Amino acid sequence: MTSYRDFHRRSIENPEAFWGAEAQRIDWQTPFELVLDRSNPPFARWFIGGRTNLCHNAVDRHLAERAQQNALVYVSTETGIERRYTYAELHAEINRMAAVMRSLGVKRGDVVLLYLPMIPEALFAMLACARLGAIHSVVFGGFAAPNLATRIDDAKPVLIVTADAGARGGKVIDYAPLIDEALARATHKTPRVLLIDRQLAPERLNARYLVAYEPLREQFFNAHVPCEWLESNEPSYVLYTSGTTGKPKGVQRDVGGYAVALAASMEHIFQGKPGDTMFTASDVGWVVGHSYIVYAPLIAGLTTVMYEGTPIRPDGGIWWRLVEQHKINLMFTAPTALRVLKKQDPALLKKADLSSLRALFLAGEPLDEPTAAWIADALGKPVIDNYWQTETGWPMLAIPRGVETLPTKLGSPGVPSAGFNLTLRNELTGEACAPGEKGVLTLGYPLPPGCMSTVWGDPSRFVSTYWSSIPNQQAYSTFDWGVQDEDGYVTILGRTDDVINVAGHRLGTREIEEALSSHAAVAEVAVVGVTDAVKGQVAMAFVVLRGAQPDADPSERARLEAELATTVDRQLGSIARPARVVVVSMLPKTRSGKLLRRAIAALAEGREPGDLPTIEDPAALQLVREALGEVGKA
Ligand code: ATP
Ligand code: MG
Repeated sequence: MTSYRDFHRRSIENPEAFWGAEAQRIDWQTPFELVLDRSNPPFARWFIGGRTNLCHNAVDRHLAERAQQNALVYVSTETGIERRYTYAELHAEINRMAAVMRSLGVKRGDVVLLYLPMIPEALFAMLACARLGAIHSVVFGGFAAPNLATRIDDAKPVLIVTADAGARGGKVIDYAPLIDEALARATHKTPRVLLIDRQLAPERLNARYLVAYEPLREQFFNAHVPCEWLESNEPSYVLYTSGTTGKPKGVQRDVGGYAVALAASMEHIFQGKPGDTMFTASDVGWVVGHSYIVYAPLIAGLTTVMYEGTPIRPDGGIWWRLVEQHKINLMFTAPTALRVLKKQDPALLKKADLSSLRALFLAGEPLDEPTAAWIADALGKPVIDNYWQTETGWPMLAIPRGVETLPTKLGSPGVPSAGFNLTLRNELTGEACAPGEKGVLTLGYPLPPGCMSTVWGDPSRFVSTYWSSIPNQQAYSTFDWGVQDEDGYVTILGRTDDVINVAGHRLGTREIEEALSSHAAVAEVAVVGVTDAVKGQVAMAFVVLRGAQPDADPSERARLEAELATTVDRQLGSIARPARVVVVSMLPKTRSGKLLRRAIAALAEGREPGDLPTIEDPAALQLVREALGEVGKA
C-alpha cells in the first residue's frame, strides 16, 4: 500500500501525471490532449480537448454490467412512497425527461433551473440536463420566493422544473404561490415551467406558463436521447453557496474534472465499490446532494438512497432502520442531523442491525467532539468528518482510508485530499504558519479537478473574491480559520469573519464553542464576538440546553451560566471566557443547518440582523432577542 504522504506529494508535485492517471476512471468519448492548462491563472482548465458526458458516466456506461442492479432507492416518510429503479429503469426515466426537455426547446448550453423537493424526478432532471449538455441550477426546494427570484435572475434559465408541493415533517408546502411570486419578482422572464404533479397540493400554478410533465412523459415513453459529448471544461452546473456569510455566489462546475474528482474520491475517501449502497441524507439543493446523492455514487456504480423526510419521523430510529432494510454500506450526513438524533432514545439505534454499515461521513459544519465521540461509540464504526465547500465540490480534508488507514483525531476532519495544496497562512502577512499556529486555510494554484471553474457570469468575481485576500501570495482563501498539527491534521476554528479579537488575543469562535459543548448540559452552542468599549471585542455565548429548559428558575439558570463560563476558563484560559452566557431555546440557522453567527452578533450588539433570506426559522431571532432582554434585566 502506498503511504498517504507519497500519494499526496505526487498529486501536488506533478498534478498532470497524477490526474492524468485518475482520469482513466471515467469514460472519454474523445481523449484529452492536455491534462492541465495553466496559461491563465488563477483559472485552471482540466483535460483539455477531452469529450465526455456526466450522464453517460453515471448511467449508460453501467448498462452492460449492471442494468438490473438498483441504481436508485427512493424512500419518502412524508408520503409513504418507496420506489426502486434499476440502472436500466433509471436510464429510461432520464431519456424520457431529456426528451421532454428537448421538446420544450432545451439545448446544449441552456440553463434549466430545478426547484424541486426530494423526489426521484429531481435526480432524473439533473441527469437529463447532463445528457442534453444543458446546465442545471438546482435551488433548494425549501427556499422562499425572494431567494428563488434572485437565483432566477442570476442563472437566467430557459426552463424551470418544479413540483406541486414539497413536504416536511408532515406539512405540505404548496409550491404554486412560491413560483408565482418568484416569477413576478424576477426581472428575467422564464418562458416555461414544467410541473411534476405529486398530487399533494390542490392548487395549480398559473396555466399560462405551466406545462404538465406526466402527459409529456407518456408521449416520450420510449424516447432515446443520445448523450451530448461536451468538452471537459464546458459548464455542467451552477450551484449557489448557502449564503451563510452574505450574497450567495454562483459556483460553476465543469464536466470532465468533476467526474474524475468524484470517481477518485469514491476510491480514496469513501471506498465505495460497484454494487455497494450509499445513503446520503442531505438535499439535492446542496453540494453534498449534488456530489454524493447523485453523481459520485452513480459514477462509481453504487446504489444511491434518496430520502425525503426528517431524521425523527415517524421516530428517531428511521435512518437506522433504513440501513438495516437496504443493507446500506456508506452513510453521509451533517452534524446538525446527529445533534438532533443524539437527543433521541439511544435504544432506537441499538435496535437496528447495522452490520452492513462500514462508515459514517459527516460534513457541512464543525463536528463537536462530544457528538463525534457519541456517534462513534454508538455505531462502533469509523466516523469520518470531512471538510469542504460548495466551491470545492468534494472533500478538501478527510481521512483517505482508501489510500492509508490513518487514525482519526477527534475535532479534526483529517488531512488534505489529493491535489489540494493546503497551507495555513497568516492573514496579515501571507506567510505560512508553523504547526500549531493559527491561520487561514488557503489553497495554492491550481485547484484540483472538481473545484469551481469560475463564478457564474462573473469571472472577475472569482479572482476578486477568492484569490485576492491573502497578501503577497497567489492563494485561494477558504475564508475558514484553522490550525494544523505536525501530522498534517487540520482543525477548523471557524470562519475568518468569526474570529474574535479580545484585548489583542485572536480567538476562533469554534474553540470556545468546543469548550462549552463539553459540558453535559449543552446541546448546541454559538459563540460570537460583540463590540466592547474596553477590550475591543468580547465573546458572548448562546447555549441551547439538553432536555428541559430551566426557564422557571432564574437562580438555577444564573448558576448554570456561571458554571459554563468557568468551563471555558478551565480549558482555554480566562481570556476566552465569554462575557455572557445566554440560554436560548433555539439558534438561528440557515436552511442547510449552519449557524448564522453574524445575525446573532448583530442582535447581541442591539442591531437588526438585516435581510436573512436563507434563514430556516425567523422565530429563532425573536427568541434570541427575548433571551437577551432577560439578560439585560438580570
Ligand atoms: P456562503 O459562502 O454563501 O456564506 P457557506 O460557506 O455556508 O455559504 P457552503 O459552501 O455550503 O456555504 O459551506 C461551506 C462551509 O461550511 C465551509 O467553508 C466551512 O465554514 C463549513 N464546513 C463545511 N464542512 C465543515 C467541517 N467538516 N468542519 C467545519 N466546518 C465545515
Ligand atoms: Mg462559503
